[in-house]
Amino acid sequence: MIRTQDLRYQYAGADAALQFPDVDVAQGAVLLLSGPSGCGKSTWLALVAGLVAPTAGTVEVADQSLHALKSVAADAWRARAIGFLPQKLHLSAALTVQQNLAMAQWAAGQPEDATAIHTALQALGVAELAGRKPAQLSGGQAQRVALARAVLLQPRVLLADEPTASLDDEAAADAVALLLATARTHGATLVIATHDARVAALIPTGPDGQIGFQPLHLLRQPLLKQEQ
Ligand code: ADP
Ligand code: ADP
Repeated sequence: MIRTQDLRYQYAGADAALQFPDVDVAQGAVLLLSGPSGCGKSTWLALVAGLVAPTAGTVEVADQSLHALKSVAADAWRARAIGFLPQKLHLSAALTVQQNLAMAQWAAGQPEDATAIHTALQALGVAELAGRKPAQLSGGQAQRVALARAVLLQPRVLLADEPTASLDDEAAADAVALLLATARTHGATLVIATHDARVAALIPTGPDGQIGFQPLHLLRQPLLKQEQ
């Protein structure tokens, strides 16, 4: 479902390119993208979301080359095929929950579908919050709303960036369980990018004791002028 090959990305002004190991992730599988801050997790997500084009190499999602297609139709396809749960949830403060989800349909070139919005919110237990603004939500509620938005268009791939950041143990366990359940419901391939060491233990192992996720561990890469 996600296949990368010889993937590299060089930021403007950087001395060298970030390099990423190849991955081949099956439909419905879980990829745990880990590594220390600054190793390139956000960059990898942006490449696999099709938000930026690689300096070299290829990304395929659902057997489609992500960056070869350059058209409005391709942008709409990416918006449907890939759901993104950003670390900072990026809910528009001026809009209600309902309107925030409608924006996602609009961005994918679809007409507003109130039934689909209600179904997605209901699946995450937040349908009664549809009329609220983001400022009127708790942190956990806001994350559920953002997750509803991420899966609203039935994506093939769900990308979650640091979904447990600044959560206590109980909330972190809830967040990971919710992501796994949501991805399974939609048959989506799930990527969790995190430097949180708790996350691996929160992903259940398979029935035969096999590891419940595929690891992609990035190392701190030697390279940039502007190290943070
Ligand atoms: P992570 O998400 O794992 O913390 P990032 O993908 O954000 O890592 O960053 C990887 C490396 O690229 C870091 O060294 C970071 O400083 C650098 N980097 C990230 N964004 C930019 C940018 N816009 N310009 C230059 N360097 C960047
Ligand atoms: P995270 O660790 O969550 O990826 P960062 O602090 O690395 O967050 O990055 C936050 C934002 O700053 C991102 O948009 C990233 O692209 C940008 N950024 C990160 N490192 C650099 C850098 N060295 N130069 C310019 N922009 C950067």
